Amino acid sequence: MSPPAPPTLCLLMLPLVLVLGALAGSNAFDIAAMEPVTASQGHLVATGNKALYERMTLNGTLDPDSAADAAGMMDVNEIPVRYDEAQLWRIYNISEGMQKRLPFRQMLEQKFGGNIWKENSKFLDISIAKEQLKAARSFLAAHNIESQILSDNIQSLIDQEQLESVASTLGRLGARTKKATRNGSGMHWKDYHDLETIYAFMREIRTKFPNVCRLYTIGKTAEGRDLKVLRISENPREYKKIWIDGGIHAREWISPATVTFILYQLMSNWENQPAHIRGLTWYIMPVMNPDGYEYSRTVNRLWRKNRSPSRRAKCFGVDLNRNFDIGWNGYGSSTNPCSDTYRGSQPASELETQAVVEFLSKRKYNLESYLTYHSYGQMVVYPWAYKAVKVKDASVLQRVANTAVQRIAQKTGANYRASVTHEALGIAGGGSDDWSRAALNVKYVYTIELRDRGNFGFVLPPRFIKDTALEGWTLAETVAQAIG
Ligand SMILES: [Zn+2]
Repeated sequence: MSPPAPPTLCLLMLPLVLVLGALAGSNAFDIAAMEPVTASQGHLVATGNKALYERMTLNGTLDPDSAADAAGMMDVNEIPVRYDEAQLWRIYNISEGMQKRLPFRQMLEQKFGGNIWKENSKFLDISIAKEQLKAARSFLAAHNIESQILSDNIQSLIDQEQLESVASTLGRLGARTKKATRNGSGMHWKDYHDLETIYAFMREIRTKFPNVCRLYTIGKTAEGRDLKVLRISENPREYKKIWIDGGIHAREWISPATVTFILYQLMSNWENQPAHIRGLTWYIMPVMNPDGYEYSRTVNRLWRKNRSPSRRAKCFGVDLNRNFDIGWNGYGSSTNPCSDTYRGSQPASELETQAVVEFLSKRKYNLESYLTYHSYGQMVVYPWAYKAVKVKDASVLQRVANTAVQRIAQKTGANYRASVTHEALGIAGGGSDDWSRAALNVKYVYTIELRDRGNFGFVLPPRFIKDTALEGWTLAETVAQAIG
């Protein structure tokens, strides 16, 4: 809700104009000069920042005292964040009791600038910058906390991932060129792809199967990108529905890769799919957080949230999986806009959340399943996450999850675990999975944490995409069968 425009607005805008005028005079922050430069670097990022800048100035919502920061932000954001010699640690036995006496997690985040990768009842994975390693190490030692180094140089993980990407592209250049003429998007699962390729792939599927597919733009992001959902159905009015999303968290690249693979698995053999698959209406949203995804591809590989601006702080982004209207005020999320688990200013404050809520609420009739793809940890979990209670039909959900986990082990040899969410991952409010159950009464609600278990974490090398995606498909297939 925006407050009514007070007469002071004009007064607020005056210094703003002055500040921007001053900035326009210097080369470094010359707004007019920035556009062609950023446009050639990558139009999406440039458009995003420009749209954001215009919205803030037009609405007069940019605090005069932070105008310089915001202008600086536009510049700084173009420089990729590096993680040279930053380490990834796994820290054990940070029990809730201990946290209450001493908030270790918070201290590691705030005092040592740690970035939390994963947290559950048994351990915490956190990255620590090179400069803070010594201090953080002494802190853990002083409190007798057990820890293990998962990676001693996160930047080298990121560089390796990049190298493998390049190698896969070079290695299949011939095949790829041929493929690109045959199908428009050039999609494949030897590498991760940018948003444009994923959207081109969705359009391509729609074009090839016009009678079964419908492509929706269900909203736009803060930076002006489309939110796209593909529906696959031979009878949308009558068939039971299954929803699949990916990419809520930007850095979990294996998730959009898996969800696009599911789309491929479905459509490459649609005519021969068994009745329990062809007889459903599938809604597929590979990237729920396009702004964050592109930001993680261009600026900060480990970005998690979306990219919406917060008014007071220099900090950007809301954790979309803490922003849904279920247990929003509760445990497991942050009120601090700078935190990676910032819940937002109110439930469903974010455009991405609003778009999904509105779209699904209108289609809740016959909506039997909500599947959401995350990484990492190799787990299939079901509600609740926001409280330490199981849903009443938990035994059914556990049984179907067990079946999926067994089939996954048979197919790829990977070990996944099936469990109720709060036991496996701890309590957290505001999740899309819980919301779908609480608000829409969806039965088969699952979150899957894809590979791996911490060796590479979010920076899963492209050579693992195919098997991991197959594991994700196996869950979808198993749930479709359960819906029957
Ligand atoms: Zn996630």
